[in-house]
Amino acid sequence: MRDLSANAAPRPSRRAVLGGLLGAGGLGALSVGKAGPANAAVARPAIIGCATWGAQPATSTISMVGPPQKILVHHTDSANTTDYSQAAAYTIARNIQQWHFARGWIDSGQQFTISRGGYTLEGRHRSVEGLGSGTSSVFPLGAHCTGQNSTSIGIENEGTYMTVLPTSAQWTALVNLCAYLCQTYGLGPEDIYGHRDFLDTDCPGDALYARLPQLRSEVAAKLGTTNPPPPPTRSWPTLSQGASGFRVTTAQYLLRHSGRSLSVDGAFGPGTKSAVVSFQQSKGLTADGSIGRLTWESPLAVTCSQGQTSDAVRGVQTALTAKGNTVTVDGVFGSGTASAVRSFQTANALDPDAVVGLNTWSRLLA
Ligand SMILES: [Zn+2]
Repeated sequence: MRDLSANAAPRPSRRAVLGGLLGAGGLGALSVGKAGPANAAVARPAIIGCATWGAQPATSTISMVGPPQKILVHHTDSANTTDYSQAAAYTIARNIQQWHFARGWIDSGQQFTISRGGYTLEGRHRSVEGLGSGTSSVFPLGAHCTGQNSTSIGIENEGTYMTVLPTSAQWTALVNLCAYLCQTYGLGPEDIYGHRDFLDTDCPGDALYARLPQLRSEVAAKLGTTNPPPPPTRSWPTLSQGASGFRVTTAQYLLRHSGRSLSVDGAFGPGTKSAVVSFQQSKGLTADGSIGRLTWESPLAVTCSQGQTSDAVRGVQTALTAKGNTVTVDGVFGSGTASAVRSFQTANALDPDAVVGLNTWSRLLA
């Protein structure tokens, strides 16, 4: 669909298209000194505007806010299509807008979309306008992560990345877009997060989430940043052979939940270690038999919510009990467990939604 009012949203210039196709690396070599908004080391990627891919108008006025403090990476949780064409990129952009209209939103929730074929598209109207000439402090208020919308820019990556990774074209586009957004808005690689860092959700998928440290490193390289990005803020205990206590009991329940056979006795012995090794191998992690952040977030600490009956729920109940909440460790996530989770979340400044995701797990195991 070709919109004759295309001037309303800037179409990428031929130069910008070529810059995007050539990639930022070659141009980056021309820069000297410290990277930052002032010296534009990172080339602007080609971004297909709303008018070009055939967006419908937003149903209400889109306001500009800013400055952004972070970038949130998402996956669309849709099919991993092998159609890498530009037409397919237009289709996913249009589909997302329709899905978001159906949720009652005024436009696409995210500011940018990257297709499986590596095309970068404007999501919400005014996102390209917000980039200005490459130094900016404003962006259109989106709808991609409750609580973070006025301070973060969202990027939807077409596909489902629980067990597989984005295509290489898509990954390259993601690195280039993140680097350009960092440069434009004065952000650092450490300001790049996954959706699940803020809400109990699988997004952006286990596999893609596990690659965010690499994304930060590649963005840092493009920006010419020499300092390594600091680690994420969510903290986890490290458990290894010889450890004991409620954290070990909880981990043993979670290992059982993942399909491993082991006794749940609160003592981290050889049986627990071999279950951990097996879990790590199945997730492509370093199989050192010790449970640290990557293993917890792979996730060994799976999301639990009301209505479930499982060993993982026994893990939740074990940790709740250790934290002074009165619940029965029966593996049934009923109203009593839900209310204990809610009060724990409230006491820990978490969203009291009674869903135990990574943020809640991390506090339960603290
Ligand atoms: Zn998301």
